[in-house]
Amino acid sequence: MRFVTGGIMHETHTFSAEPTTPESFPTSRGDEYWAYAGTNHSPGGVIDGCRARGIELVPTLFCDGVATGTPDRTTFELLVGELCRRIGAALPADGVLLTLHGAMVAEGFPDAEAEIVRRVRALVGPDVPIAVTLDFHANLGAEMVAGCDVVTTYDTYPHVDGAARAQEAVDLLARTVRREIRPTMALAKPPLLPVPQAQFTARSPFKILFDRAHAIEAAGDALSITVAGGFAYSDVPEAGLGILVTTDDDRPAAERIAGELAELAWGLRGEMIVANRPPREAVAEAIAHPAGPVVLVDVGDNIGGGTPGDGTTLLAELLAQGAAEATIVVADRDAVTAAFAAGVGGELRAAVGGKTDRRHGDPVPIAGRVRLLCDGDWVHEGPEQAGVPAAMGPTAVVRVEGVNLVLTSRKSAPGDLQQLKSVGIDPARQKILVVKAAVRWRGGYAPITKHSIDVDTPGLGGVDLGRFAFRHLRRPIFPLDADASWRPPGSAAGGPV
Ligand SMILES: [Zn+2]
Repeated sequence: MRFVTGGIMHETHTFSAEPTTPESFPTSRGDEYWAYAGTNHSPGGVIDGCRARGIELVPTLFCDGVATGTPDRTTFELLVGELCRRIGAALPADGVLLTLHGAMVAEGFPDAEAEIVRRVRALVGPDVPIAVTLDFHANLGAEMVAGCDVVTTYDTYPHVDGAARAQEAVDLLARTVRREIRPTMALAKPPLLPVPQAQFTARSPFKILFDRAHAIEAAGDALSITVAGGFAYSDVPEAGLGILVTTDDDRPAAERIAGELAELAWGLRGEMIVANRPPREAVAEAIAHPAGPVVLVDVGDNIGGGTPGDGTTLLAELLAQGAAEATIVVADRDAVTAAFAAGVGGELRAAVGGKTDRRHGDPVPIAGRVRLLCDGDWVHEGPEQAGVPAAMGPTAVVRVEGVNLVLTSRKSAPGDLQQLKSVGIDPARQKILVVKAAVRWRGGYAPITKHSIDVDTPGLGGVDLGRFAFRHLRRPIFPLDADASWRPPGSAAGGPV
């Protein structure tokens, strides 16, 4: 059996002005792909899943971008054009495995994954099955689902099952090729738009949804069930929660199970509301807390969700309140350049952060001593993306009063302790750790965290969706429309109301 694989992953924050260019995507071509073997990421699971089953795998192109603004048409055509050329050159194949994100929006293509699947389908024809792996934050749409045969999404946030879900896709695709199964999918989209912070899968409401989904899978009533939390900051009709049920050639059962889970999710909507602490209160509480590390979650500047990573609200507050042994990472290329000019041991005077836009706090004037300069390269220790390299670009650690300020050239989502260890900071020994995240930080940080506070910092990761000018989203949708009502298809009143 011979599979071809490739993919483009991008979570698009359509309210972000941060440009997305081909350079925004660390890219692996051809044999470079094999470096993902053994990693806890979708391409790693594809490679390992094929090797374990004796399936020949032809890798083509994998582009893995950090979340930013909407890619323009030129960028999209460049990336998808190369992907399709390489897939075309690798044919014939018994099956195709696409590793995508699910919340990519490109100029002209509000459901970018649907367009990618449409073009790949045009290449391979109607008879070659296509499997797609997606992130938990996928905004599942009917067009993409109709274009492929198998879909899996991560069941976890933080995403600690990237490889496992890809292996599941390999397994379902191989069984489809052997005609052992006929995957049949039903998609349910209750009008729910939970923010990332409400999507921690070890806690209600998502834990309840996954417990039920896994019980149905274990009972053998479905081949695979996907609960995609959705990505609220993509202003597209498909944004929000999606439930996708795959059965073996049983459409009524798929529809019934999807409806049941959608109804369960709707009933839990009250638990999708979150409330965060004002920055001043949060910093005071962290300083007063008897034991560290205390994690201050900079929710407004959630890098993994497409914010710039240069938010300054908590840096300013830590300095104003005289915090000691606090660490914060801020993306600021100009400040890094100035730190390199000052050299290790030199003094850095600069206005730091707050430069990408006017939504994440003003630049903060600092004066500090440069402690360390490095290339910013490190490798994830996991659990999320274990084994995958990360590149922050030239990086400086500057001691500013009691604060260890880590300045990076490129934004880098927190969630892995190696990020700080690689710059000589032992996170377990810090009193306060600021993480520019919503939930992802828990992957690496949970074991060392004594206390955490979700902070209501300003920015594109803000949990009050009413602050965003949605134009394309389907309405009404909860919690944006607090009085939204809905009944599952097939109930007495039928359909969304
Ligand atoms: Zn995600």
